[in-house]
Amino acid sequence: MREFQGAGDPMRLKIAVQKSGRLTDSSLDLLSRCGLKYSRGKDQLMCYGENMPLDVLFVRDDDIPDLVQEDVCDLGLVGLNVIEEKRLAFQARDVGPLFETVQLLDFGRCRLCIAVPDGFAYEDARSLQGRRIATTYPNVLSRFLEENGIAAEVVVLSGSVEIAPRLGRADLICDLVSTGSTLAANHLRHAHTVLESQAALIRTPMPIPLQKQEWTRRLLMRIDGVEQVKGSKYIMLHAPRSALAAIAKLLPGSEAPTVIPLEGRGDRVAVHAVCRENVFWETLEDLKGAGATSVLVLPVEKMLA
Ligand code: ATP
Ligand code: ZN
Repeated sequence: MREFQGAGDPMRLKIAVQKSGRLTDSSLDLLSRCGLKYSRGKDQLMCYGENMPLDVLFVRDDDIPDLVQEDVCDLGLVGLNVIEEKRLAFQARDVGPLFETVQLLDFGRCRLCIAVPDGFAYEDARSLQGRRIATTYPNVLSRFLEENGIAAEVVVLSGSVEIAPRLGRADLICDLVSTGSTLAANHLRHAHTVLESQAALIRTPMPIPLQKQEWTRRLLMRIDGVEQVKGSKYIMLHAPRSALAAIAKLLPGSEAPTVIPLEGRGDRVAVHAVCRENVFWETLEDLKGAGATSVLVLPVEKMLA
């Protein structure tokens, strides 16, 4: 355990996570599911993994791509909205090799949208021609305008974008939307989705030092395992051998099921399968209709492909 101790250790991986916000709990939950044990004091910038050579750095989500790009952290958990905005900014500055998006994650879903004030007649992107659009995502918005051949003024704000039209600073906005209630409260409505976002894992553009490669590989494999397990179910049932083909077709998102003979039960067999999709009551009813009995659906806790 000696090598698991101490900060700034070249053997230890560093991962950047949002300090306090919408991504924090799900990010820490993901790391816990990967087996990481850590202690986190209040307002601590960093916490040290107790059972893995992995430390977590807590920062604003907007700083995560920069920390990973500059190789201060090896990995980061952050939304695609921030990833895209930073990637375009780095590209424009021609900084050389860019941080990479390794894997999409099943949390932090939201949309970056064009929203217009009540009474604004929005038809399509051309309705934005010549308008002033307030946003904290100038690069993603500018790319969208360019792709659609629209000339509009991008008003860059650092926050409170939704009140810009009422203050006369812009005609409309481009901002993150999850429920739409903030929009409604500000007399705005959704007009167009510019980017569908969710959390993702990013990694440094630099080669990971040899001493850290094994744990990087293990962590990435565990993260992949955790993501695969979400929504997966393990199904066990009994069925006549003659119904196997029909039953295999009904099992949602499963690869070759395991078929086990049942001692002294003639042609009846037990079928076990991992289903990568949700299993609904309707599926169970269909399985029963195809001849299955004793159907059990169990959650999958861990999976290693
Ligand atoms: P800070 O910059 O201080 O870290 P913030 O105000 O930018 O915080 P949050 O509002 O916590 O951040 O949002 C962080 C990220 O969570 C967003 O950039 C986006 O990727 C994602 N997000 C935004 N809205 C939602 C939502 N309603 N549900 C889930 N994730 C969201
Ligand atoms: Zn932020």
